[in-house]
Amino acid sequence: MNESLQDLELRRKNLFRQMESLGDFRRGTISVNYRKCGKSNCACARKDHPGHGPQYLWNVSVGGKTQSRNLPVGPELEKAEREVERYRAFLRLSQELAEVNDRICQLRPARTIEDEHELEQLKKNCGGISPRNGRGNRPPHWTRVARSPTSGTLGSGSQRNGDSRGDASDRRRLVGEVAQQRR
Ligand SMILES: [Zn+2]
Repeated sequence: MNESLQDLELRRKNLFRQMESLGDFRRGTISVNYRKCGKSNCACARKDHPGHGPQYLWNVSVGGKTQSRNLPVGPELEKAEREVERYRAFLRLSQELAEVNDRICQLRPARTIEDEHELEQLKKNCGGISPRNGRGNRPPHWTRVARSPTSGTLGSGSQRNGDSRGDASDRRRLVGEVAQQRR
């Protein structure tokens, strides 16, 4: 089954809509900690005592900096749990959005140019970056890629592994896609 450009655009719109309705989200994880206070006469000094707690902490590491904040049990903990869970949802949605966009780009045809002069002009402008002479003023997003057997790309027939994000139907569809391209 082939998805049409229209289907994909609809899916994309849907994903944006879901993203918009996510609400507040925040990076980080919530950890549960137990701690021994160190007083020898305290109950927590016993070996079988887990320590004082549970104490809930919100932790995040951004740009090498780690932050953490104590979360009192109750509404604050509940709020933080929702926020970090929504961040996971945000990541899933943006991953899916990138995949859908990728397929849209594959299906979207380039524009047709009727005017021969315009076409010539366009070809000339791209001349500096044609693969034949290779040298020229490449925009920063142009990179030369050394192909190796391990650098599997979409459509090369290699399975993407280690990706636990996609759901089962997503995986099935990808397998179908690869099979289609092999035919
Ligand atoms: Zn103690």
